[in-house]
Amino acid sequence: MLGLIQDQPLLISSMIEFAERHHGDTEIVSRRVEGDIHRYNYRELGLRARRLANALDKLGLLFSDRVATLAWNGYRHMEMYFGVSGSGRVLHTINPRLHPEQIAWIMNHAEDQLLCFDLSFLPLVQAVHAKCPGVKHWVALCNADRLPADSGIPGLLSYEDWIGAQSPDYAWPRFDENSASSMCYTSGTTGNPKAALYSHRSTTLHAYAAALPDVMCLSARDSVLPVVPMFHVNAWGIPYSAALMGCKLVFPGPAMDGKSIYELIEAEQVNYAAGVPTVWQMMLGHMKPAGLRFSTLRRTVIGGSACPPAMIHTFKEDYGVEVLHAWGMTEMSPLGTLCTLKSKHLAYPKDEQMKLLQKQGRAIYGVDLKIVDGDGKELPWDGKTYGDLLVRGPWIVNGYFKGEGGDPLIEDEQGRRWFPTGDVATIDADGFMQITDRSKDVIKSGGEWISSIAIENLAMAHPAVAMAACVGMPHPKWDERPIVAVVKRPGAQLTREEMLAFYEGKVAKWQIPDDVVFVEAIPLGATGKMLKTKLREQLKGYQLPSL
Ligand code: ADP
Repeated sequence: MLGLIQDQPLLISSMIEFAERHHGDTEIVSRRVEGDIHRYNYRELGLRARRLANALDKLGLLFSDRVATLAWNGYRHMEMYFGVSGSGRVLHTINPRLHPEQIAWIMNHAEDQLLCFDLSFLPLVQAVHAKCPGVKHWVALCNADRLPADSGIPGLLSYEDWIGAQSPDYAWPRFDENSASSMCYTSGTTGNPKAALYSHRSTTLHAYAAALPDVMCLSARDSVLPVVPMFHVNAWGIPYSAALMGCKLVFPGPAMDGKSIYELIEAEQVNYAAGVPTVWQMMLGHMKPAGLRFSTLRRTVIGGSACPPAMIHTFKEDYGVEVLHAWGMTEMSPLGTLCTLKSKHLAYPKDEQMKLLQKQGRAIYGVDLKIVDGDGKELPWDGKTYGDLLVRGPWIVNGYFKGEGGDPLIEDEQGRRWFPTGDVATIDADGFMQITDRSKDVIKSGGEWISSIAIENLAMAHPAVAMAACVGMPHPKWDERPIVAVVKRPGAQLTREEMLAFYEGKVAKWQIPDDVVFVEAIPLGATGKMLKTKLREQLKGYQLPSL
């Protein structure tokens, strides 16, 4: 017997319709590539998303055709989130920090039909243009008067002219909620990039889940600044959740430096922000010497790579900002876990609470987690035993676009299919998951594993350290030994011996790095994460002191 409930597909268009109707006058503020601040609201967003949908129809783009973006966080990008997916096309957000060769490869692989780009990416577009003959239309996200006279891109359109010529009347089509809505390529540190292909259903479920109180806790009273780029896993789903909840949105555009972000937070009374640790490192680096304070910021979601405990502590104790440590992956839309305390933990001493809050947190309903050993046997949730982390759920991929890389899932004895995250983790009795490492970064020393994250986090707690990366170096006896590459804070003094002494008593003796290498910078990847492959290349020829 079926339930007697209306059968309405979960479509992205319904989110913008809802936001328009129920939160029409809620503001969306963007710092533009043009340099100024642009403001409008969900009503105007909806209207322009419909114009865009009409414009895509006019160009003859078909259902499921891919529409690419090379764009910062801003209102036009947001219009594309809804206009492209809502009209049945697939939004392909491209990370502009990738190499042009990689971008061209991705665009050809995705078979993009149209590319919309911010003018700051014109040189990049010029570099890929000739390599992407399949792209039929090129649109610059600007007014006609800003179109460069000799862009070298025949038929280049201005977004404002293009959508401005269209009617705002448009009936969002109804189709299968499992239809593809957007796609995002993983950074592909090894091999070619592979694309996660999200659906309307997965995006909607993720948007609901992300907004929940013990997840991102978003509401119509929040002013939200997603620093996490809209080209990185849909800005962690914030644009969608914000539309469902009616949050004010504040977009930073191209100005991602600490000073600009801080000023925007203050000017727009942002109480909620989200980004990777390196972004906050820059902002705190700007604020501290100038003695600046936040007047409205209360919470920030930090994820994408391990948030150093020292950062959680600084935010909380020095600035009164609660850090929500989150973990996820491109393949998971991206949210998997988020760290908030349970009721019983409120009675714990502060340092115990802090220890919990450093973990990556508890699974969100919809995401199932387990850790397994090398034979696929499930390991206990004791907070100590670590193993390969597997996940499953309705917003987790079951394969990659065009079947790249084959079937990634692993079947267990009950026939349930799991996605292997490539992370190594522990899970405690309360379900708090902690990432020990990425399996490829974990340091194998004398048959034991050393967590590179743990070593980095400790280094980051030293006041003279701005950034630290721990990697394993080959060792004839122990297999590998850890060393830590350290970037000193400007003007700070720190010797190798002082750094090594700092570890004493904090980790087991055999886990203390064998050496400290001072570097100018740690190489960062396209999504702001430390690129350990690159660091290892830079350290080529390095010899452990004991050898
Ligand atoms: P890519 O894999 O392409 O670098 P993702 O954004 O999908 O891009 O990266 C997902 C990976 O990032 C996770 O598998 C995990 O290793 C790491 N990660 C994400 N969030 C955290 C976190 N809070 N703590 C530690 N690692 C994290």
